[in-house]
Amino acid sequence: SIPLTFFGGIGGASRHGILVKGACYMDALANLHTVVFDKTGTLTHGQFAVEAVHPDHFNERQLLHLAAHVEHFSTHPIGAALRNAFPEEATDGCRISHVEEVAGQGIRAQVEDHIVCVGNQRMMEAIGAQWHPCHHIGTIIHVAIDGQYAGHIVINDHIKDDSIESINKLKQLGIKRTVMLTGDRQEVGQHVAETLHIDEFHAELMPADKVAHVERLIQEKPVDKALAFVGDGINDAPVLARADVGIAMGALGSDAAIEAADVVLMDDRPSKIALAVSIARHTIAIAR
Ligand code: ADP
Ligand code: MG
Repeated sequence: SIPLTFFGGIGGASRHGILVKGACYMDALANLHTVVFDKTGTLTHGQFAVEAVHPDHFNERQLLHLAAHVEHFSTHPIGAALRNAFPEEATDGCRISHVEEVAGQGIRAQVEDHIVCVGNQRMMEAIGAQWHPCHHIGTIIHVAIDGQYAGHIVINDHIKDDSIESINKLKQLGIKRTVMLTGDRQEVGQHVAETLHIDEFHAELMPADKVAHVERLIQEKPVDKALAFVGDGINDAPVLARADVGIAMGALGSDAAIEAADVVLMDDRPSKIALAVSIARHTIAIAR
């Protein structure tokens, strides 16, 4: 016969593509108060498309091709987007060296004889390049060559349909506080948070700022309740580790994230979090 706990417990959760690494996380899932989301790749698809190219030097194609080269080895969704802008002509990894990805800022590499930086405003400020403000709605990627500003690329990502359902279901389950943290621009963060009716958002964050927000939110919740952080793991392994329950999206997630996480979702549907909460509550109810 089918045991009573067939639909519950760690085994039951795994049949729904939710891997829970220990019974204590079932307790925490059943008692969530705050759910904190990373934006890119978690609430959005993490598949950016290039919308506009504004070169200060070169032509549009040359600027984009240069940025794509710098991103040749990048695993960040932004890197994939810039490379995908050239489906017919792959980038050449032999043309680049000394690649350095700076979490929350961007990436730099030597392309032939030049140092090329590809990243956000913060990266341009860090190297002293005179970037131009851009009034486009979207994520803005600036390019500088040997410290000289070369132009910017506007890219856009889309919210997952499933994210709307995820936030609604969590609210129905009585989760008191939903928060989104992102390294992206304020304008982009505001658009996503408002569309999804997320209670609170913070943008333009470095990975360490995300950890600090999670630490503050842990302090602000009742002591007997738990906080979950949900991320795709790109740059957010430290935050996953700090939360009471770190939840990684397994389909896109990096090995570091799957390692740091307490719960792994085998697909990239955020609504699985509400399902995990339901299974955990059901399991605890049976156990009592
Ligand atoms: P999020 O918090 O949205 O998941 P990240 O912390 O991964 O984003 O990145 C924050 C910001 O840092 C991005 O919006 C982008 O401006 C910049 N960035 C990070 N990695 C890259 C990269 N490989 N190329 C260009 N820009 C990048
Ligand atoms: Mg991220």
